[in-house]
Amino acid sequence: MQKEQTKQLHTREDYPYGEIVQPLLLWYAKNKRDLPWRQSADPYRVWVSEIMLQQTRVEGAKEYYKRFLEKFPTVRDLAEAEEESLLKVWEGLGYYSRARNMQKAARQVCEEYGGQFPADKEKLRGLSGIGDYTAGAIASIAFYKRTPAVDGNVFRVLSRLTANPTDISLPAYKKYLEQKLQKIYPEEGVACADFTQALMELGALVCKPTSPACESCPLKDVCLAQKTSSQDSYPVLPKKKEKRVEQLYVFVILTGDKISLRKRTEGLLKGLYEFPTASKEKGKKELLAEWGITDYTQISSSSAVHIFTHVRWEMECVVIRTENSPFEQFSVAQIEGELSLPTAFSKAKEMAVKYV
Ligand code: SF4
Repeated sequence: MQKEQTKQLHTREDYPYGEIVQPLLLWYAKNKRDLPWRQSADPYRVWVSEIMLQQTRVEGAKEYYKRFLEKFPTVRDLAEAEEESLLKVWEGLGYYSRARNMQKAARQVCEEYGGQFPADKEKLRGLSGIGDYTAGAIASIAFYKRTPAVDGNVFRVLSRLTANPTDISLPAYKKYLEQKLQKIYPEEGVACADFTQALMELGALVCKPTSPACESCPLKDVCLAQKTSSQDSYPVLPKKKEKRVEQLYVFVILTGDKISLRKRTEGLLKGLYEFPTASKEKGKKELLAEWGITDYTQISSSSAVHIFTHVRWEMECVVIRTENSPFEQFSVAQIEGELSLPTAFSKAKEMAVKYV
């Protein structure tokens, strides 16, 4: 609360925002990457790519995008999908709530809009998992509307261009930049799609977080950070919170050629399969006894770390063999082909496959 009060919006009313449009569009026409989601302005495809690209790098998202559309080629296919097959396609991307929200939104599109995405930004905002940024991106890229989409790349480019020291986590700053962009957007049409993507593309290829390539930047003549050699001072980012550390046992329980898994019922990764996991506040034997496992042989153990946005899991993966597991049991083929296991359990999965 205290921190929020100290953040302050700095405005840059004198900056010639309009002067960035043409150089940026010309640069984009020559330099844009040939990405799979740029081959179509279909709103379903634009939406899938935008959701995937949140917290996932472009290179990593390409293969997922292809597989996702092969499996769910239309919004209706996604709306009608089995949750487990959706999570399987999403396996490894993390932030599974994105996938679940996508299915909710797909159902909304089918039920409320007859299977056609609405073109209006506010209606798009009403769909599950779609915030200001994604709504702006879909409306401009797929429907050629004059709707800004301010993501991390755009914050960086605009903060440097205008040498604006406002902390980007201040909601009023995003609104301010949206208003400034709104005024300079090209006429409704394909140029709106290009302008939205050009800003992001400049941030991804030229105005990178570290070592921006100012010499080859089409906006260097109107960039205040470049003029004052203060590129590294912008954008101003919020202070990172310390991650909470959780120390866990992850049990790889083998019975014959089967591996025990269970669904998580709370907290992170809720609803997804896991290897039975428990806090190290209790000892191994005690935990296993609570599950009725008293007769077992430990085969191996190994440590692993997984970092979530706010939490760091420090895990000890323990492989045991027993005849009396109380959990659901699966074959390697089922785990690899049908179930979605979060990346946090990669090490445990590797050990399960090795020792089963
Ligand atoms: S001149 Fe440099 S800092 Fe300014 S927008 Fe271009 S790449 Fe970014």
